Amino acid sequence: MDFSTLASTMQALESTRSRNQMVDIIASLFKQLSPDDVQRSVCLLQGVVAPPHKGIEVGLGEKLVEDAISKATGYSSKEVEKLYLKLGDLGSVAEELCKGKKQTALFSQTLSIEKVFSTFYKIATLSGHGSQDVKISMLAELLNNSSSVEAKFITRFPIGRLRLGVGDPTVLDSLSVMHRGDKSDREILESKYNICSDLGLIAKTYAQDPNSISKFTMVPFTPIRPALAERLPSAKEIIEKMGPCTVEAKYDGFRLQIHRKGKEVEIFSRRMERMTNMLPEVVAAVRDELNCKDIIFEGEALAYNETSGEFYPFQQTMQRKRKHGVGAKSAEMPLRLFAFDLLYLDGKDMAAKPLRERRKALESVLLKNSKTLSLSESYPVKKPAEIETHFEDFISRGLEGLMAKDLNAPYTAGARKFAWVKLKRSYRNELSDTIDMVIIGYFAGKGARTKFKFGGLLGAVYDPNTDTFQSLAKVGSGFSEEQMQSIEGLLSKIKTKKPNARINSIMEPTYWVEPKYVLTVTADEITRSPIHTCGKEGDSPGYALRFPRMYGELRTDKRAEDATTTDEILEMYKMQKRTELSKEGEE
Ligand code: ATP
Repeated sequence: MDFSTLASTMQALESTRSRNQMVDIIASLFKQLSPDDVQRSVCLLQGVVAPPHKGIEVGLGEKLVEDAISKATGYSSKEVEKLYLKLGDLGSVAEELCKGKKQTALFSQTLSIEKVFSTFYKIATLSGHGSQDVKISMLAELLNNSSSVEAKFITRFPIGRLRLGVGDPTVLDSLSVMHRGDKSDREILESKYNICSDLGLIAKTYAQDPNSISKFTMVPFTPIRPALAERLPSAKEIIEKMGPCTVEAKYDGFRLQIHRKGKEVEIFSRRMERMTNMLPEVVAAVRDELNCKDIIFEGEALAYNETSGEFYPFQQTMQRKRKHGVGAKSAEMPLRLFAFDLLYLDGKDMAAKPLRERRKALESVLLKNSKTLSLSESYPVKKPAEIETHFEDFISRGLEGLMAKDLNAPYTAGARKFAWVKLKRSYRNELSDTIDMVIIGYFAGKGARTKFKFGGLLGAVYDPNTDTFQSLAKVGSGFSEEQMQSIEGLLSKIKTKKPNARINSIMEPTYWVEPKYVLTVTADEITRSPIHTCGKEGDSPGYALRFPRMYGELRTDKRAEDATTTDEILEMYKMQKRTELSKEGEE
């Protein structure tokens, strides 16, 4: 199919903020395409050429793209730069200059979706001596053959500025609407996406035959979206909700999903990015110290001091997330992995089996004396008092709290369910859990902060039902001066003139930014507020945070869509009310 069809879809998406309209626009595009083009278009609409676990990114610098525009249109670099300064967007520059191309290609051809996709894929995978020039020529060739509207989107794509606001739920809904006319297949599509993490592949399979989607199964080296934990405020409520269960130590490190097939090993992060090269000791242990052939399992990794046997604090563990000096750091602070769940074993999908069975199988494959791999601590409990005893014990040993788990529950890929419940220490006058917000904008500094051009952040939570980011709080404290400077540096690169189509906010920051970075905040409580859109319906107020402050560093292990959700805030608000009532009862 011609790329112009996709370009006009992009144009239409750019001019709407209604999600239902977006879904209809994308569904009617899909209807016109072959399954292969559906797959390619899903990627192109989302600004990628492959799912995140493949680690293939286009990422061209602006300068290279300017060179390509100049090469394709015949305008000098100076002219291109001048217009960029005026318009502030390279896409508009290309659009403008392609209207009045000084040179036309001798053999210009109509661009197809396949041609555009495969060119970007090649650009992403080319490396080595002289590759820059080849990349510029490839991009220039595309621009040479494109209309002005096509040129706008082709230019924005490689610099990560497409910003059409097409999130995963929007694509899943659009697929369902393409075949069914409504969103009734969204659930099955989502459940398959949760075990395969390749939205393009799901889209292609579904476009070929909606019934074939049920055949998707787990396979090593394709990451599974992680199961997540719910919250409850007390041991008593945990037993009321779950009955007899098991409690595990809650380790404060980073979550790993480990895949092994024969002697080959791959390790993925919480956001399903490949981390294999960063963790040599874990790779070696998984290869040599497991009693099985093929496996997918999960655990939490923490750095520890071999001499004293103590764990390092979270900030130090995070130093292991690095691309350079891996060997030296791994010798200095080796990791210990506490395995807590098993998803796949020697050809068998274990996810549907109850935790009790998964755990037993996991125990049987782990070797007893491994320095690197061990089972997470776990204790069966029946009464609140037993939970409290373990909780106190974990806290006194510097752990974060506990995870209560339902021994009869399956692994709930990609979902936050009551199969797992986290209980963390709650400090007086503080929410019992931190909140992860997406930064959607920031404010210019006043007074002492003017020199950093930074006066606080506008944070939002994610609503997967509407695929939007809803504002929850303005965060103005908790940062060090260094943090302020580095955050302002990051944000200034992703400023946008208008808010992204997925942002829903009444409050206007000085600068809007792409929803990309996630920060953790603590707060005193959740309140109702008319100025924030989280959970806001009609005229009723939304939800907000009282005295929010930044906690720790930016959460680079989370994507914007992994932020706390609107429903979680509503649940936490109800929990807070229940806790207040029971406190009043005690007084
Ligand atoms: P989430 O991952 O749920 O979005 P989060 O990253 O803020 O939220 P928490 O909500 O505090 O983390 O807790 C869940 C995380 O706890 C898991 O993702 C995992 O990394 C970690 N964890 C530590 N110990 C365990 C355990 N025994 N079982 C399961 N998860 C554990």
